[in-house]
Amino acid sequence: MVDVELRELMQPFVLSDYQVQEVYTRFCTEIAKGLRRSTNTQAVTKCYPTYVQDLPTGDEIGKYMALDLGGTNFRVLLVTLKGHHDATVESQIYAVPKDLMVGPGVELFDHIAECLAKFVEKHNMQDAYLPLGFTFSFPCVQVGLKEAMLTRWTKGFSCPGVEGEDVGLMLHEAIQRRGDADIAVVAILNDTTGTLMSCAHRNPDCRVGVIVGTGCNACYVEHVDNVELLETEFKSDHKQVIINVEWGAFGDNGQLDFVRTEHDREVDSKSINCSQQLFEKMTSGMYMGELVRLTLLRALERNTIFKLSTKRAEFAIVLRTNTNIFETKHISEVEDDSFPEFSNTRRIIKQLFGVEKAAVEDCQKLKYICECVSKRAATLVAIGISGLINRINDRKVVVGIDGSVYRYHPHFDAYIREVMHKLVKSDKEFDIMLSEDGSGRGAALVAAVASKIK
Ligand code: BGC
Ligand code: MG
Repeated sequence: MVDVELRELMQPFVLSDYQVQEVYTRFCTEIAKGLRRSTNTQAVTKCYPTYVQDLPTGDEIGKYMALDLGGTNFRVLLVTLKGHHDATVESQIYAVPKDLMVGPGVELFDHIAECLAKFVEKHNMQDAYLPLGFTFSFPCVQVGLKEAMLTRWTKGFSCPGVEGEDVGLMLHEAIQRRGDADIAVVAILNDTTGTLMSCAHRNPDCRVGVIVGTGCNACYVEHVDNVELLETEFKSDHKQVIINVEWGAFGDNGQLDFVRTEHDREVDSKSINCSQQLFEKMTSGMYMGELVRLTLLRALERNTIFKLSTKRAEFAIVLRTNTNIFETKHISEVEDDSFPEFSNTRRIIKQLFGVEKAAVEDCQKLKYICECVSKRAATLVAIGISGLINRINDRKVVVGIDGSVYRYHPHFDAYIREVMHKLVKSDKEFDIMLSEDGSGRGAALVAAVASKIK
């Protein structure tokens, strides 16, 4: 059984009803600030207008290239939209070597252009004109569909020479430097927008797109009258626009300090973007494993786990000296286990500490730690989603979600729904759907919708 000591240790991760309500209120206030011209500069959730105003009808047709940069993988895709809500996707995953993630931006874009060229050659499309949708999953100020100025790098990226620059132009120039493919960048979008679009392609009630993966963010469909940052010319023929909330930055001016733990502060201080993306650091795959590592270490130091082992001091050293040794995917595996087998948990404990057959009690405790970390993440995500749904006028709202945490965690969806049932207004109905390749299909749809306008 999980004892009082461990419960006490994990208490800071368990949000009370009062805390949930308070975070909810602060989140809604921050969104309202982000949308207003006069308060946008003070807001941390920037609520960027994406210039995507048409949702797909399902009739879109044509072949589009897509690029997906900003998660764990970098991908090049060829998407064939076939009408009738149907599409096929061929794709290739390429590595983004660690040094490119932090090296000069031009080199990153040259690498991307090279992968594109290889892909085009492999598919024998060197002579075709190829419109491309670029899913670039970082905060950007857009002034149009294909102009996107990077505001700041997030997750593991920090290439100099890109912040403040138009990433569409940088990609275009890299493609031109090679000159071996006829590819036109027609749209730049966030992965949340891609998720929303790909879900709306199948379900017309989709109004919110969410990513809980390496990073965490959401977008939603807002009425243009509420979007003061959108120039009037974009308000005449369209009543709506997708807003990229960039909720990962929520908390960056202290609004979450009352719920952040010592471990959140440590994860932040060791990160390459200290004091930025604080909500993201409590909710996404890049950091959740670290939160478990640090809490587990504290549990060892306090003698609340592996009580009977003579090797506790050694275990502590393993955890203390190996950042990221506990991965977010381990959380999913541990939470997938059941009493008394705990087969994943035992395998992971063995892998970490060389313990052959961990005691049931210790497995239960590790599972409890994982649950506290992932439930808190899900609770925060649910707060954000509920805040967005409650802003939207439609009675029925479908939420499209993607990302490795949501996709692979066995209970994340259930955790989210439980909190949403408490927060979404009672006159509303919601559902959640898993996105099918939002970054690929969604990018093609934005590109297609963009081509329709012209
Ligand atoms: C970025 C967002 C992105 C999210 C999920 C965050 O770090 O700022 O733009 O949508 O990660 O990939
Ligand atoms: Mg992705």
